[in-house]
Amino acid sequence: MPLRSSLGKVMLVASGTALATLFGVGPLMNSLADSSLSLPAHAWTDIERKRNQREAQPFRDELLIELASLFAVFEVDPQRMKVSFIAGGDDSQAASAGTQRLPFGQAYLLLSEGIGLNYALSRVTAADACDIRPRVHPNEASTILTPEQRYALAHELAHITCEHHTKRVTATAAALTAAFAVGPALRRWARASRPVAATATLLSIAPAGAALRWLYRRQEWEADAVAAHKGYACGGEAFWSRQAAMRVPNPGVPYWFRTHPYPHERLAFFTSRCNPDGNNGDTG
Ligand SMILES: [Zn+2]
Repeated sequence: MPLRSSLGKVMLVASGTALATLFGVGPLMNSLADSSLSLPAHAWTDIERKRNQREAQPFRDELLIELASLFAVFEVDPQRMKVSFIAGGDDSQAASAGTQRLPFGQAYLLLSEGIGLNYALSRVTAADACDIRPRVHPNEASTILTPEQRYALAHELAHITCEHHTKRVTATAAALTAAFAVGPALRRWARASRPVAATATLLSIAPAGAALRWLYRRQEWEADAVAAHKGYACGGEAFWSRQAAMRVPNPGVPYWFRTHPYPHERLAFFTSRCNPDGNNGDTG
């Protein structure tokens, strides 16, 4: 009976923890993302409502249509999207966060403020200045987004589709737990002294950090591969060509500690996939 009773308690605690994790992580990730933003994020549902009720809306129709097209291409759920700008961001910056798979979770797409400013000034690159129909082909520049900017957003939407942020949060929690379990485990199972256990804990932080950095770089490659597959390879080539010319990698940071691959590596990746005469890369 005591065994059955303790087993019951363990089961109860385990299922309670699992449920709390399942339903709590989404809202926690939402509040972390919201609090880290420099400008407020607008829920797609709110944007839609304001537009339908003819209230002031934060984004104009041309940009909304571009974004809606990108959401459709990447099969993200617009009802679980929030959109914001990066204050002071230049036109190459974009970011993403959040989750669409965990209950109550929201995904976040951050556009450069430059896009908003250019947009507000009605920058026109179309041959016919009066023709403001959105052009959402990955390779075509519109009045709103250039192919480079569209690639940057496509890359971020690929992160969302692949649930990279959730995987990062999970992997970080697992790596920290493992690193900080080393000392107590050595104390308990190998009867190690306190200094030995403390040293082992410190030494285990570096490999845990390296494993996380490896995961980050792998996710960057995966997001690029998805973007290329969806037809944004030429935008990626133009984007990384500019970045490779502007950014010199810091020689003081070893490759295994980098969160992102080198710009020239990414340029080579997209150059091999961009086919300006065809349908851009391997997609059709
Ligand atoms: Zn990325």
